[in-house]
Amino acid sequence: MTEPTTAARAEIVVDLDAIRHNVAVLRSHVAPAAFMAVVKADGYGHGMVEVARAAREAGADWLGVATLDEARALRAAGDEGPLLCWLAVPGEEYDDLVAAGVDVTAYSVDQLAEIAAAAERVRGTARVQLKIDTGLTRGGATPRDWPRLVAEARELEQAGRVRVTGIWSHLVASDDPGHPANAAQEAVFAEALAGAEEAGLTPEVRHLANSAAALLRPAARHDLVRCGLAVYGLDPAPGHTARLLPDLGLVPAMTVRGRLAMVKAVAAGSGVSYGHTWVADRDTTLGLVPVGYAEGVSRAASPGAEIWVAGRRRPLRGRICMDQLLVDLDGDTPPAGEPFVLLGPGSGGEPTAQEWAEAIGTISYEVVTGMGGRLTRRHVGGAEERR
Ligand SMILES: *Cc1c(COP(=O)(O)O)cnc(C)c1O
Repeated sequence: MTEPTTAARAEIVVDLDAIRHNVAVLRSHVAPAAFMAVVKADGYGHGMVEVARAAREAGADWLGVATLDEARALRAAGDEGPLLCWLAVPGEEYDDLVAAGVDVTAYSVDQLAEIAAAAERVRGTARVQLKIDTGLTRGGATPRDWPRLVAEARELEQAGRVRVTGIWSHLVASDDPGHPANAAQEAVFAEALAGAEEAGLTPEVRHLANSAAALLRPAARHDLVRCGLAVYGLDPAPGHTARLLPDLGLVPAMTVRGRLAMVKAVAAGSGVSYGHTWVADRDTTLGLVPVGYAEGVSRAASPGAEIWVAGRRRPLRGRICMDQLLVDLDGDTPPAGEPFVLLGPGSGGEPTAQEWAEAIGTISYEVVTGMGGRLTRRHVGGAEERR
């Protein structure tokens, strides 16, 4: 591990070269399908605007976000390319997004009417994508409501108020290629596409696949894939990608690092942190890490998780607190201020987001997206700047 590049107490370092590399690799892997980089939730904790820019530089054809506000923020930051958003509640403002050429998603006839009214107000044509619920039973029109939605969309299209640019759905179990839901959803999707075509719709893009499906189910790629997690270099289907991922060489983009606030010797028998859930079983040394659950480090990570300090991985001890946690240095006495790496790409021996997820009993999505609180965030462009 090299010397820290800053004196930061604790920070998220995002390698935009990794983002660019991952987008370029994924994009060529799924070609001729087009590629959408999903940058919702502040770019899965990596910084939405910076990731979006890097993804575009690497050739992302589309960007995808959940909320209208996220789409608005991307346009405000200067992004002008194809951009889809998919989550709104009744009464939200569509006018500026329609005027800015953002693709919005309609789940229902009522929502479609709201979007068409916005188009009317701005004297434009809304770019609308229709979502069919093929089995996730989350957003989107059910197959029962689909014929009415496509008929209504076609009428509004003929009136010049909307242009149906896409039809899409989302998978239940793309991280589990053998799950019967995959094939069942593909069949429902095919029927929905046929129904839309019969109604006279001519979408530019049909799409179903997230990262896992983009990698593992070529049949699900259609015209466009929507990749989130893989853009950030993480494995969307642990246990199913053993042959594929090493070939692709995705690089995790996030490192969480900082410097120890204190190092102290503790005697055997000392209880450590709230509740004394860990009692030193020998004389040892502990490092105080100035990061806690307010930064997104789950309380469930101790015992179980490790961090990298002074040349090796070391276990967390006792309860994780709001602002800080403790690491067992096993008699070593690095000085206060010694760098630690909480998670990173793994290339320097540090734990990865995937390992943290396993220690906590969650998925790497939640680990990286949750990183925040008082961590500062710094974007770097070269691997040598990563730490
Ligand atoms: C978040 C999201 C994605 C990206 O999923 P990954 O598994 O991160 O690739 C794709 N589509 C929709 C609708 C999403 O909400």
